[in-house]
Amino acid sequence: MPAGDPPLTLRDLAGIKVRQLRGVGEKAAEQLLAVEISTVLDLIQHYPRRYLDRTRQARIAELLPGDEATVLGAVRSAKSRPLRGRRTLTNVVIGDGTGKLSLVFFNQRWRERQLTEGMEVLVHGKFELFRGERQMTAPVVDLVGDKTGRIIPVYPQSSKAGLTTWKLAQLVEEALNRSRVRGFDDPVPPEVLDRFDFVDREAALCGIHLPESMAEMQEARRRLVFDELLRVQLELVRRKASIEREMSGVAHDMSGELVGRFHERLPFALTEAQRRVNAEIAHDLAVGYPMHRLLQGDVGSGKTLVAVTALLTAVQGGYQGAFMAPTEVLAEQHYLSVSDMLGGLLVPDPTSLLGDRPLRVELLTNSVGATARRRVLDDLIVGQVDVVVGTHALIQEKVQYQSLGMVVIDEQHRFGVEQRAALRDKGESVGVPDVLVMTATPIPRTAAMTVYGDLDVSVLDEMPPGRSPIITSWAEGPVAEGGVWETVRNEVARGRQAYVVCPLIEESEVLEVSSAEDVFSQLQSGELSDLRVGLLHGRVSPAEKEATMAHFRAGSIDVLVATTVIEVGVDVPNATVMVIFDADRFGIAQLHQLRGRVGRGEHQGFCWLLGDPGTDDGKARIEALVASTDGFELAEVDLELRGEGTIMGERQKGRNDLRLASLRRDKEWVSVAREVATEIIARDPELTEHLGLGAEVDLMLGDNEAEFLMKS
Ligand code: ADP
Ligand code: MG
Repeated sequence: MPAGDPPLTLRDLAGIKVRQLRGVGEKAAEQLLAVEISTVLDLIQHYPRRYLDRTRQARIAELLPGDEATVLGAVRSAKSRPLRGRRTLTNVVIGDGTGKLSLVFFNQRWRERQLTEGMEVLVHGKFELFRGERQMTAPVVDLVGDKTGRIIPVYPQSSKAGLTTWKLAQLVEEALNRSRVRGFDDPVPPEVLDRFDFVDREAALCGIHLPESMAEMQEARRRLVFDELLRVQLELVRRKASIEREMSGVAHDMSGELVGRFHERLPFALTEAQRRVNAEIAHDLAVGYPMHRLLQGDVGSGKTLVAVTALLTAVQGGYQGAFMAPTEVLAEQHYLSVSDMLGGLLVPDPTSLLGDRPLRVELLTNSVGATARRRVLDDLIVGQVDVVVGTHALIQEKVQYQSLGMVVIDEQHRFGVEQRAALRDKGESVGVPDVLVMTATPIPRTAAMTVYGDLDVSVLDEMPPGRSPIITSWAEGPVAEGGVWETVRNEVARGRQAYVVCPLIEESEVLEVSSAEDVFSQLQSGELSDLRVGLLHGRVSPAEKEATMAHFRAGSIDVLVATTVIEVGVDVPNATVMVIFDADRFGIAQLHQLRGRVGRGEHQGFCWLLGDPGTDDGKARIEALVASTDGFELAEVDLELRGEGTIMGERQKGRNDLRLASLRRDKEWVSVAREVATEIIARDPELTEHLGLGAEVDLMLGDNEAEFLMKS
């Protein structure tokens, strides 16, 4: 890398293999590959997990029981002994001059080979006194080597691959030193760097890997976090802008009376939030580029009404609407409620003698018989069906529309690039339909900016009046559980119904089904023997599923024992009790969804969480549900507890560019990056005047990575 060449871009760095670095032979290259490092870019973006400030590290003699501490010490001994039942216990003793600390591992015999006498290690864990001995059970162990200096970067490493944090630090330093000859290209406009007082990229990379002080590291981190977030936002804002520019959509005629008539005859007034969101959507529908909007609203906030209003707006202007649900059961249910809401409305029809005809809503799922299906398909082509409800099959090629103008997608149905292409095809003759995606899993605002950044977002943040919040309790232990079944029996005696959700077994659907069957037969022959109990799970045939739901809806089943198939959208207003087994195994959002199945009518709702959490997180989740019924508040707690991994993870395939940035810790920077990206794209939509930035975005968020961002 001779001086005189232009500064190194990230793409340049991605083109240099680590093998080219001094000190990387075949073995090291293999070890690096085990932690997914093959290029110099991978290496310098392998950021330290934490830092050890030598002046502030804990001394063994000063630790108090219960302390979470990081201790640097040298291995004194490592021994294993067998326990009963083929288990082994490995005991490693380290010392730091002030005292000795015993590290306890179960079934990790390899630690004996890993931690040899004299080796310097950094351990992090909970300090305890056990029979007078200082001890940590299953601590995180980092191999430090003989690194000196005040601040030691501690890299994420795979202990089994045998790569020490010291070796990593050495390689990073080597890579940085060699790169410094040419310097690092910095594609972020200088004006932006000035505005936020950011250090340049070279200082940032050196400061994150080889800081002289923690303050220097913080400044470096701030800059690198911004870069990551800026790239993501540039990609999202650019895509959003290009959809708006390049696709021609439908400019709906807003002058009809159907929507007004529909609202007038509702038995209640719209909430303020519903009015506001309807107006936001109406604005999008009136203009000529396709809407792509996310509707966030807590369970029961009245999203269906907003969706139906949008569909009706399309219909009154002469277009058709499609309503997609994630499952057949939900499609069926939406079909019933949409038909019910729109029943009796008339749409203009020049071919009819009277000049109008009843608005027609149809269901299209696999369980619709062949004849009926054929009829619906035929009538869609000629425009005799106004709104069709179904699963995602609705936008597949077999279904043809006369003039599809509005698509509602319920409950985070996967809606990616392919689906968008399918929609574009549907719109060949009339323009690309407008899309409204509904989700009942609220996520915090800054997280939404990242996860749904290519969509406009509307929020229904107000509940219809007169709902009393569901009373949620944690039933811990058998006595409390007895009380739960008593509540169920009492509610049923008063004419109400209940759901019982079975333990979640993510690993195996077969096990989940059999556990649901167990719960079902135990309840039926025990606590709930006088009641009519039904069973619903993933292995039940669609026809049977539908029949069971119909019975439950009709009230001929009192208690529905189910797996999470009932998680979304199931709407039976007479159901007032939700009992969830092993509640600690579910996530916060999922528990909140499940709870939202009850208390949807005029009657007080109850939610019982059963469980004996084995983890602090599990306990915290249950406690959060007991403490709050506000989905947005719970979403914040969830983000706190689990980090963004879950939020991003659900949608994200493969790698993402957020290595340092945390949607939780770096909230303010998410907003800042969004603003800067919006400014840049507004002036330079294709990034032709910001080629360096554009290239980085493409490199870091290439097609595969960008696709997850489109999934909603
Ligand atoms: P979501 O889909 O957001 O969970 P729904 O659209 O299913 O909520 O609405 C839940 C219930 O609230 C439905 O029974 C609906 O009729 C009712 N509802 C909707 N909007 C209002 C309102 N403005 N006032 C009173 N009830 C409403
Ligand atoms: Mg709903």
